[in-house]
Amino acid sequence: MTSGTPQLKLYNTLTRTKEPFAPLDAGNVRMYVCGPTVYDFAHIGNARPVIVFDVLFRLLRHLHGAEQVTYVRNITDVDDKINARAARDFPDLPLNDAIRQVTEKTAAQFLADAKALGTLEPNFQPRATDFVLPRPDGKPDMVNLIQSLIAKGHAYEANGEVLFDVTSMADYGQLSGRNLEDNLAGARIAVETHKKNAADFVLWKQSSPDEPGWDSPWGRGRPGWHIECSAMSAAYLGEVFDIHGGGLDLIFPHHENEIAQSRCAHGTPAMAKVWMHNGFLQVEGQKMSKSLGNFVTIHDLLETDKFGGRKWPGEVLRLAMLMTHYREPIDFSVRRLEEAAILLEKWERFAADVVPASTPEAESLTRLLEDLDTPGAIARMHSLIVDEGRAAEGLALADLLGVKIVRSLAADPEVEAKIASRLAALASKDFAGADAIRTDLAERGISLLDYKDENGNRQTKWEMKR
Ligand code: AMP
Ligand code: ZN
Repeated sequence: MTSGTPQLKLYNTLTRTKEPFAPLDAGNVRMYVCGPTVYDFAHIGNARPVIVFDVLFRLLRHLHGAEQVTYVRNITDVDDKINARAARDFPDLPLNDAIRQVTEKTAAQFLADAKALGTLEPNFQPRATDFVLPRPDGKPDMVNLIQSLIAKGHAYEANGEVLFDVTSMADYGQLSGRNLEDNLAGARIAVETHKKNAADFVLWKQSSPDEPGWDSPWGRGRPGWHIECSAMSAAYLGEVFDIHGGGLDLIFPHHENEIAQSRCAHGTPAMAKVWMHNGFLQVEGQKMSKSLGNFVTIHDLLETDKFGGRKWPGEVLRLAMLMTHYREPIDFSVRRLEEAAILLEKWERFAADVVPASTPEAESLTRLLEDLDTPGAIARMHSLIVDEGRAAEGLALADLLGVKIVRSLAADPEVEAKIASRLAALASKDFAGADAIRTDLAERGISLLDYKDENGNRQTKWEMKR
């Protein structure tokens, strides 16, 4: 083993190399990840960035201190797909009310899914609609960003739209490696006549009276997709920050255009230092699509038997995802979930009575520091728990990965019912009755652990004793 402090290395899409990661400000390590467009249940492809960047968040907190990391994941709640869904599902409501129904329900579902996947909440989860117009708190907003792009000669108004002029930025295309000629040649669609260049993209567009719209200097309208993230990242992380993430499909056009907007509006040489992209997920060997009938939502896996005839707990899903390196494609399958479930059961058997080490040793982190090599880290964890008799260390590594091994098997309704009666007995000071239930469960190998929840109410967790 080499000596010295282990160094985190991350693959940067912008430079196409794996680089040592050094935060711009060690007192505030800043990461932005593009979040979901909330019009429908999130599918298991959407679960991938949620899980991958949660592992990175946990690792950064471990390396730099939990208070020294700021993670922002936005919610896109203005989008034409949302409008279409709202009109379809709530035809009798005014469109704006219908939109609110769709986005609030979907955003709440997304947060519940993310929680079930064992993720920590990001520090901020801003909604795009709160950043369209200038804000009372003076944080950056989309209208102001667009105005400065126009003032600096990077954007122009045409046909009621505001467009970004890609020829105004000398190095437009750096992230995706597309040059302007490619973009112009690649535009198969006839050049819309109001655009100066085929690759110019929309910053603002007009809304019809029944579409969602905000009164802006360019009339009543709504923002383009890319400008949202430029505003929300600047609002919480500043003009230049450390890490920007999302799925591979976002490199072009979304991230390319975010970079163009932010750098040109702020006059900075970079928007984020490191650009990270997770690989794509397909299902049983095929691209996931509604028409192929292999479209699987996170909710389907957690709550129904649509995939493989059974429900899959969040920790199984999470482990199944992390068994592949984040930059590789994943073929998601029932077999993979079964493998993950078997591994978890095995680790649970070896580690049920073990108290995790308070923090993993530096040596256990080696694989994870190598561009988040989660399969390598999982192999190491397996070896610690199963082969080396070092389960406490293995569990500390599992904690860092957010993989829950010894779980309270809170799914058994009979046990849950007994626990509820015991809590009721305790509340009415029937201690003998409460003890009888505890003894009864102990005889079945179930041990109870009382704790207080955030409201100070007594709760009980249970575990299988081994
Ligand atoms: P969307 O709501 O489509 O904007 O996607 C939200 C996030 O999920 C983005 O970071 C996408 O890149 C990512 N994503 C979407 N589909 C997949 C997939 N099949 N595999 C991996 N990541 C995906
Ligand atoms: Zn974005």
